[in-house]
Amino acid sequence: MANEKFVSQIADIETDFPQWYTDVVIKTKLVDYGPVKGTMVIRPYGYAIWENIQKEMDARFKAAGVENAYFPLLIPMSFMTKEAEHVEGFAPEVAVVTHAGGAKLEEPLVVRPTSETIIGHMMGKWVESWRDLPLRMNQWCNVMRWEKTTRPFLRTSEFLWQEGHSVYATGEEAERETQNMLRLYEEFARNVLCMPVLVGRKTEKEKFAGAVATFGMEAMMHDGKSLQAGTTHYMGQNFAKAFGVQFTGSDGTLKYGYTMSYGVSTRLIGALIMTHGDQRGLILPPPVAPVEVVIVPIAQKKEGVLEACNALAERLKKAGIRVKVDDSDNSPGWKFNEWEMKGVPVRIELGPRDIEGGRMTVFRRDTLEKGDGYSLSDAEEIVAALLGQICKDLYAKADARMKERIVGADTLEGLLGGVNGGNFVRAGWCGERACEDKVKEFAQATARVLDEKNDMPTCVCCGKKAKHTVFFARAY
Ligand code: ZN
Repeated sequence: MANEKFVSQIADIETDFPQWYTDVVIKTKLVDYGPVKGTMVIRPYGYAIWENIQKEMDARFKAAGVENAYFPLLIPMSFMTKEAEHVEGFAPEVAVVTHAGGAKLEEPLVVRPTSETIIGHMMGKWVESWRDLPLRMNQWCNVMRWEKTTRPFLRTSEFLWQEGHSVYATGEEAERETQNMLRLYEEFARNVLCMPVLVGRKTEKEKFAGAVATFGMEAMMHDGKSLQAGTTHYMGQNFAKAFGVQFTGSDGTLKYGYTMSYGVSTRLIGALIMTHGDQRGLILPPPVAPVEVVIVPIAQKKEGVLEACNALAERLKKAGIRVKVDDSDNSPGWKFNEWEMKGVPVRIELGPRDIEGGRMTVFRRDTLEKGDGYSLSDAEEIVAALLGQICKDLYAKADARMKERIVGADTLEGLLGGVNGGNFVRAGWCGERACEDKVKEFAQATARVLDEKNDMPTCVCCGKKAKHTVFFARAY
């Protein structure tokens, strides 16, 4: 069978998940490798997913009152050294421009790894009075972090992201915004990516370089490993002091502002691939799928078939659905395989007999269910309802998997067994860095986020009284 041959081109998802991932991202033409090691080319099919992510996320930022801006790619080296923790954290990853215009530069320039420093500098210029606050900006851009081991979407030296940066008059407001943006990300993950996440505070070891506190959302991938899918940071006055972000308060005194930042990146594409995909390839959540419905003509050379397919596509387009008619010369079976691998949520098959009977055959990518006899005249309603149902079902399936695979442990051996079995392990922790390091060394697992529900009595490592309950996992 053509189908079997096709499926065999992708490595086994259960026994070789890393190769499955590589096969899927390359064969579905989401990405290719760039000529410089560690870089990726995002191809049109992959970029269309990113555009849908951007569109959905950007609308949420604007609704929350955040404005977009753009800051330069090149940052004076001296900026990086102004915040001590920040420079230490990023030093191993920065790319530096030393020559330009045929001459050595007086001051080397850093290719932005993140924009806290340059935005801090500009905020210092723009903020004068309490009336200028809050200042809330976001930018959609690329960043560069020189990584040693790279994988498309998950870790590459250059990637695309958004970084939001705000300055407030008080710490309470900046902290509240840090939580609000975390909740915005969580809602986005649920409703747009159909992906359940755990959200919470990061440990000191895992926090952003220069932050007072970092919060993250973590998603469980098919293999039980965790993927950090977004972070928000409360900076206190660290960056405000380093960059002189000062304002005159309503009482006439000069004060430093409080800053926060937040970001998600093209990693989200990797996250949704590894959350929803199956042996046949991608399963794309409808809200970000470049094509939500593919129409495959059956016996397309027969009179009236292509016309009927195109007419149906026009109707679905008018209803706001992203639709494509595959009128290529390939056989219907080849087309089925191709679009299944590419993760298109719904396929409609339309042939002479369907058209004559006013019917259509509908296939669901996520469940592989196929049904004929759907009323062609009700196509808009049928497809819209089905896309909505697919979103709910994708979320429910991933959520059930995550809940099933969160296990408790009260010893290091238990924790190791848990992560070896592809689980997140919920365990107590005394708060000491030494114990966190020991967990990493013993089980190759890291503290992903602290659980708000803090009920584990003893530290999984030293057995002393626990200060926090932590989700430990192996992570991408
Ligand atoms: Zn301990």
